[in-house]
Amino acid sequence: MSENGLHKIPAMRAALEAIQELHKPVETQVLTGDCAVGECEHEDDCPTVDFVYCAACNEIAELANAYYAEEGMQIVSHPCPTRRLADQGLGDNLARTTKNGENND
Ligand SMILES: [Zn+2]
Ligand SMILES: [Zn+2]
Repeated sequence: MSENGLHKIPAMRAALEAIQELHKPVETQVLTGDCAVGECEHEDDCPTVDFVYCAACNEIAELANAYYAEEGMQIVSHPCPTRRLADQGLGDNLARTTKNGENND
């Protein structure tokens, strides 16, 4: 991996290390399978397994999820903006196939 020598360039090395610092591993305990969805028969004594996640990617996922829960609902509601553009591009026929008539203007 180090054969390319990128890590020998100070600026590149600093950048790579900054990425490493951001995307650092975080160890935790998680439930799996039926336990994770609450359909097991362990009562309150579910077994957990070691899990290591990426701090940065997990944060992004959480932020994205929060966005989805609030303002994001507008974006994912059908017809979504992407669908509307596709409908417009294809003409009115497909647009009329949507269940609510809000986009028939
Ligand atoms: Zn369980
Ligand atoms: Zn990551």
